[in-house]
Parts: sequence; C-alpha cells; structure tokens
Amino acid sequence: PGGFLEVITGPMFAGKTTELIKRVERQIFAKRKAALFKPAIDNRYSEREVVAHNGLRYEAFVVPTTEKGVERIKEITLNEGYEVIGIDEVQFFPMSVVEALNELADQGIYVIASGLNLDFKGDPFPVTKELLVRADNIVYLTAVCTVCGKPATRSQRLIDGKPAPRNSPVILVGGRESYEARCREHHLVPDE
Ligand code: ADP
Ligand code: MG
Repeated sequence: PGGFLEVITGPMFAGKTTELIKRVERQIFAKRKAALFKPAIDNRYSEREVVAHNGLRYEAFVVPTTEKGVERIKEITLNEGYEVIGIDEVQFFPMSVVEALNELADQGIYVIASGLNLDFKGDPFPVTKELLVRADNIVYLTAVCTVCGKPATRSQRLIDGKPAPRNSPVILVGGRESYEARCREHHLVPDE
C-alpha cells in the first residue's frame, strides 16, 4: 500500500550518500522502522557504516555483492519488519537486486536506492538504469566539475593524475585520489 521506489543517482561527489542518509534519518524521526544497507565491496571508510565523502555516517547492514546478498536484503527487511530501507552503491549488486527492490516496494516498503549513473567511460551502470525506469521518484544530483566549476554529471577516473584509458577495469573502488567529478566537456576517456 505505502510502497514506493525512489532512486538517487548522479556522479561521484554529487551528494548521493548524504541525501540517502538524510532521507532515511527523516523517516526515523517520523517513527518508521528504517535500515540502511551497503555492499561489502565498498570498504573505503567503514565495515559497518555508510559514510559520505564529507564525513557524515550511519550504521548499516553490510551484505555481499552476490545473489545471496540480494536475498539477505529481502530477508532482513521482511523478517525484521523494516518499513523503510536505504541501499547505498546499489550499482555494485547483481541485476537481481532490481526485481528484489521493486518487489519490496510492491509489498509496501519505502525503498530508497542510491547508485552511480555512469561508469568512468560514461556508460550506464545497468542496475541503476533498470531501477530508474521503475522508480516512483528520481533524485538526480550533480557534483561540481573540478575543471570549470559547472555542474558535473560524470565521474572522471585518473591514474597517476591522468585520465584513465577506455581499457582499464570498470570497478575500482576509490575516493578523491582516483576519481573526480567532471562536466560533459571535461570528462575524458582516451582510447589507450
Ligand atoms: P556521493 O555519495 O554522491 O559520492 P557524498 O554524499 O559521499 O557523495 O559526498 C558529497 C560531498 O563531497 C559534498 O558535500 C562535498 O563536501 C564533497 N565534495 C568533494 N568534491 C566535490 C565536488 N567536486 N563536487 C561536489 N562536492 C564535492
Ligand atoms: Mg556515495
């Protein structure tokens, strides 16, 4: 009945995690039973918390980025009776997370999924893309381009300070040392 699927997306440093924590926290103030989940791959800052680039943090269930991990999200949510769930870095989960979250929303749960729009090459993350077209509400955030200061929609990957070539691996978890927010004009993907 009260189910809702909300997707927060944008490039790195756009404030997705901050917005996710803020929305979940508001639900807790509204006396709803809420939980945060994050994939185990993202251990940049903490094993048990969702942590934003600005230091904001919140306790979370850490689940593996496998089919089992997706099942864990469903199990914990339904068994513990959570009314609201937030999932950070949703793009790291297998495609089955899309139907799982959509079903939880059908079952009356307010699902807030936060995920990257595009990989460093500018290609969509399939999970985010599939969630976006099923969403009841989309929050599209931009960061600030580190070159010109305009709104940034893309994540620039850097290797030794230089744009990463197209043939480097898609998933490389990192922070400020290996990624920068860039606008379309300043997002560079050299062929090699
Ligand atoms: P995301 O989850 O989208 O990567 P976070 O919520 O973790 O974003 O972090 C957002 C914070 O990142 C901002 O509040 C700001 O303090 C910081 N930040 C660092 N670089 C940038 C940038 N280029 N543009 C905007 N914010 C940035
Ligand atoms: Mg984040």
